[in-house]
Amino acid sequence: MDVSEEPINIEFIREASEILKKGGLVAFPTETVYGLGGDATDKEASKKIYQAKGRPSDNPLIVHIAKFEQLEQITKDLPETAKKLADAFWPGPLTMVCNKNEVIPYETTGGLDTVAVRMPNNPVALALIEESGCMIAAPSANTSGRPSPTKASHVYEDLSGKIEAILDGGTVDIGLESTIVDLTEDVVTILRPGYINMDMLREVVGEVRMDPGIVYNDKGTTGGAKPKAPGMRYKHYAPKGDLTIVSGEEDRVISTINELTAQAEKDGKKVGIIATSATAGRYGRGQILIIGDREEEQSIAHNLYDILRQFDELDVDIIYSESFATPKMGQAIMNRLLKAAGQKTIEV
Ligand code: AMP
Ligand code: MG
Repeated sequence: MDVSEEPINIEFIREASEILKKGGLVAFPTETVYGLGGDATDKEASKKIYQAKGRPSDNPLIVHIAKFEQLEQITKDLPETAKKLADAFWPGPLTMVCNKNEVIPYETTGGLDTVAVRMPNNPVALALIEESGCMIAAPSANTSGRPSPTKASHVYEDLSGKIEAILDGGTVDIGLESTIVDLTEDVVTILRPGYINMDMLREVVGEVRMDPGIVYNDKGTTGGAKPKAPGMRYKHYAPKGDLTIVSGEEDRVISTINELTAQAEKDGKKVGIIATSATAGRYGRGQILIIGDREEEQSIAHNLYDILRQFDELDVDIIYSESFATPKMGQAIMNRLLKAAGQKTIEV
């Protein structure tokens, strides 16, 4: 159902709301990625979400709300930092993990006594939450193990026939999943990096730390620390082509990728290259896809998952990518890209 034009077609929102109220599933746009929504208080709906995605049932869902009071309704021992963070970043791409009360069933939280909650900044998502009266449990609307969907067509590719409806709100704004912070410990802890970065969080709450389970050393390991967010422990999306990130000074990165590509093509391999608008013209061979512009780092976040899906369709054997450790979103971008590469990096 097309809800990409303003004003939003309220008939489609009503139809989708009826589906949710009856325990069905609806995919909808948010500003981060598309979500696969069901009534968060209905354990049968949550079970259906896991089934449709093929998601392990111990990987909890994020509950989407439209009013701060809904956070108070489903949590207990809510710290003051929750209000401060909500005032600063909601609606927006920040998910808060808090202690849950009995309103949200364990089926939604993957058996945990905590619940992850977010107020999305997207008019379709907010209208759907308000019209249905549901708090909506929604993980990303992809098949488990594929890149998160940033367009309705990605959702269709993965979930067509498995869910009742897709609300098509066009391409999403941000393109990477929300920042997740844990508020149940003494210090606010980032469990997953996203658009809201460490500096932005520190300005609001003071001390913030990174979950040691998601900090990789130069050997590409966390030194044995396990990520606290269950979803960060699973093997993540790996493209069909074998992805390697080449990082270092720009000229050397480009010449290295050109040499590696020439060699691989000589060996009969099909090679894909992730370039920027500034560098694309300097690659001589291979399937070159432009991810965006380094000066506009959001463009890179925005296109990452779409590019990875395109390389799967192009059936390349090998992918070389430049590194995108940009100032604000670099941590979030590199977290996803390094996972897709299985942490494989060449420093030049
Ligand atoms: P997705 O919506 O597909 O981006 O997945 C939700 C992410 O939130 C996964 O990585 C989950 O592991 C994480 N998450 C959800 N609830 C919790 C929780 N209570 N504690 C820690 N992480 C959570
Ligand atoms: Mg996901």
